[in-house]
Amino acid sequence: MTEQTTTVDLLAIAAHRDDVEQTCGGALIRMAEKGYSTGVLDLTAGEMGTRGDAEIRSREAADAARELLLTWRGNLGLPDAKLETTLDAKLALAAEIRRLRPRTVILPYWEGRHPDHYRTAELGYEACFLAGLKRLDLAGGALWAPHRPKKILYASLYANVRPTFVVDITQQFDRRLRALLCYRSQYGDQPEGSALFPAHDELKDRIRSVARYYGMLIGVKYGEPYVVKEMLQLDDVVKIPVPTF
Ligand SMILES: [Zn+2]
Repeated sequence: MTEQTTTVDLLAIAAHRDDVEQTCGGALIRMAEKGYSTGVLDLTAGEMGTRGDAEIRSREAADAARELLLTWRGNLGLPDAKLETTLDAKLALAAEIRRLRPRTVILPYWEGRHPDHYRTAELGYEACFLAGLKRLDLAGGALWAPHRPKKILYASLYANVRPTFVVDITQQFDRRLRALLCYRSQYGDQPEGSALFPAHDELKDRIRSVARYYGMLIGVKYGEPYVVKEMLQLDDVVKIPVPTF
């Protein structure tokens, strides 16, 4: 992990490197452009991936972090494809949350095809709760005061659910796509695993179509979907965006 003094306003926690580049990278870029500090904590290093090893993916993740305008990116080094919601994993994650002190956390949606994704949702939720317990001693707990994020958002791109809200990422879309393409070992045109990994053009087409679909729901070009468990508050009912006609 990097220096201990970094804190972020917005932290995305993801199972794998290259997840945030597909699910919530647009919002991360947009918030960075607004002046917030943003971070990504990937829980696994990608050693189980069909293509590329953990070291190559680490370099690619650093390239993508620059493209996403992140203040900080780290990796918890938990076992890829065997992610379990163990007490050790929760405490390690809670320690990172105390150190980074995010106000808002983005997690993957709590249901999905890949077990690592929904386990990350569970791990992230419980770690956010644990991190706020004053009497809980964590590794490095003497250094980092208890901290509980105020809000959890779930990036719902992979889930077939109606989002609570969609973020307009029209201006951020190209940058988000460039960040994803930093993972050259995953998304380059190459024969190995070609049945699993779509070729470059096909991938871009797919990503664009999905972002276009969610954008269409709010009347913009590209969008990114999110779910929150709590009710959304609205203070001005005259100027609500997304027109009826
Ligand atoms: Zn993933």
